Amino acid sequence: MKAYHARTKDVGGIPVARLLPQRGKRTIGPWCFLDHAGPATFTEHEVGMQVGAHPHTNLATFTWMLAGEVLHRDSLGHEQLIRCGEVNVMCAGTGDNAGISHTEETPTGIDRLHAVQLWFALPMQQQIAPSFEHHEDLPTWYEQGVDVTLLIGDYCGKTAPTRAYSSIIGLDLAFREEHGRFVAPLQKGFEYGVLVTTGEISYNGTCYGENTLLAFDQVISSDSETLTLEAKAGTRVMLLGGAPLGHPVYMWWNFVADSDQAIQKAITDWNNGHSRFGDIRVGDKTLARMPSPVLRTTLHVNHH
Ligand code: MN
Repeated sequence: MKAYHARTKDVGGIPVARLLPQRGKRTIGPWCFLDHAGPATFTEHEVGMQVGAHPHTNLATFTWMLAGEVLHRDSLGHEQLIRCGEVNVMCAGTGDNAGISHTEETPTGIDRLHAVQLWFALPMQQQIAPSFEHHEDLPTWYEQGVDVTLLIGDYCGKTAPTRAYSSIIGLDLAFREEHGRFVAPLQKGFEYGVLVTTGEISYNGTCYGENTLLAFDQVISSDSETLTLEAKAGTRVMLLGGAPLGHPVYMWWNFVADSDQAIQKAITDWNNGHSRFGDIRVGDKTLARMPSPVLRTTLHVNHH
């Protein structure tokens, strides 16, 4: 296990804690991006988070709301408010001619934000079409002193309604007991990570605070391995995992691809107004595209 700390980034006018990608840790299974936003409150003079029209390729954005509300609009025509306890998944589709674009904003009158936004890379050898899903009814249960919510994947015989494109898991764990101890079974072939969103978690006798990502080696044993987490009441974490995709995952700005040529094409297409990314319309107005920065560096790649 290795613990990683967040860098602070500006996203749509608010500071967020970025845990993935970072030096030495680019992916956990297919999960390739991890931002923890808030908890933050806004005064009546502040507009909260306002992210303009931007594209994605070969990935799905996965939003888990802990407090507040965010309005999502995309180039497929979806307009969806996401609230506490809900998940949005926007799939960009796969290939050099697919893509999607969206905006995300704090609606007028909403004074708080606490959310986790992840991306997972898509299996690029499969043909996957762009889509958008909103989930309000996720499996939740009480177990070992913890309120568990299954956000995506399968866990202990339960299956989330969220569409999974490869072997993946996402769980929210909210500790309710003063000296909580939660033992999670792990799946062979999966890599796992634990993000602390509230409070602090104890693993192997060491405490880790908010915005720490504990990253665990791939489970290779055929025995039934488990992960034990200890925490006080009020602590909240996300348990993330999945099997590596088995192909290179290149990332630049808001793009994922399996080659740097495909990244370059996505940048050129977006900046030239290519129709693969569609348009976002509000009433009879088409929103302006946020330009992609030019690629000037060698891309880091996650090889498996
Ligand atoms: Mn986005």
